[in-house]
Amino acid sequence: MKHNFGAGPCILPQEVFKQAAQAVLDFNDGLSILEISHRTTEFEAVVAEADKLVKELLNVPSGYSVLFLQGGASLQFAMVPMNLLGDGQTASYLDTGVWATKALKEAKFVGNVNVVASSKDSNYTFIPKDFEIPTDSAYFHYTSNNTIYGTELFDVPETSVPVVCDMSSDIMSRVIDVSKFDLIYAGAQKNIGPAGLTIVIVKNDALGKIDRKNPSMLNYQSHIDNDSMYNTPPVFSIYVALLNLRWLKSKGGVAEIEKENKQKAEALYREIDRNPLFKGTCAVEDRSRMNICFVMENPELEKPFLKYAEEEGIVGIKGHRSVGGFRASMYNALPITSVHALIDAMQVFEEKQAK
Ligand code: PLP
Repeated sequence: MKHNFGAGPCILPQEVFKQAAQAVLDFNDGLSILEISHRTTEFEAVVAEADKLVKELLNVPSGYSVLFLQGGASLQFAMVPMNLLGDGQTASYLDTGVWATKALKEAKFVGNVNVVASSKDSNYTFIPKDFEIPTDSAYFHYTSNNTIYGTELFDVPETSVPVVCDMSSDIMSRVIDVSKFDLIYAGAQKNIGPAGLTIVIVKNDALGKIDRKNPSMLNYQSHIDNDSMYNTPPVFSIYVALLNLRWLKSKGGVAEIEKENKQKAEALYREIDRNPLFKGTCAVEDRSRMNICFVMENPELEKPFLKYAEEEGIVGIKGHRSVGGFRASMYNALPITSVHALIDAMQVFEEKQAK
């Protein structure tokens, strides 16, 4: 068995993959999930249950809609300002990495952008804390987990303006208070389901406040009015997401998985801090539970460690090119036994070096 620490796309439990494979062959009465019409009652039931489970697992209050869209988080970078940033208005963005930068770049095509703070000068190794959000901002946007750099923002910044969050890489990994947000979006492919599906949770009252007329596919209201079936939805991705949401529920839900995610992250950070060969790359208080970035004190040992880890069945730990070293991505589906396998490998490698 491989211990998959890859950053995605789509790290799901084996049992979910098995059920998904079966549904390709026979979802209902010998027909594949891929061939039945999305307008059948069977598929409408899939969307309805997925909607119900997202709301249940994240405790979404009434007055919010859950949308199953396409285009990835990257399309949301543009759709958010198109729907929430009126002519002449300014949106505030916190720049904590590449994804935040891409989000604010797209917003600039639509209106004015104010970057409240950035940690770019330190290669995004920390989350800026001292910043002010102008009270006349149309909204404030941030990225809750910075997948590439391994930082995570756990507390929603205090502000009177509507908050929008890109939760692509930590949604469903910890309990959140949805009522603090006007809009949450996430490419599904880390903790929810396969690539091709994007989840949006939007407060209904946040929409319809600006005059811009958007094309239908780029207008959240069209998707709300059509129960995420304005056009052909990504049927397979939605179905696999449903299987994974059922798995999460059977595990005890988000609060239970959060406990496991904390244990997994604490164990690995403990080893990074104890083992003299390794060091973390981020400010300790901003360390992500989902993507753990670390390097070696002696960079020449990185290749041999990577090779040794691979021999032990540990895959996907090579760091992103903009950080180097290692990145252990530990999404919901990664069992704690895999984290122990990585820790063991780090300890055995340490012993080998001492010889
Ligand atoms: N935002 C974050 C935090 C991400 O991690 C990613 C991809 O990894 C994206 C946005 C881009 O997502 P997509 O590829 O779904 O457009």
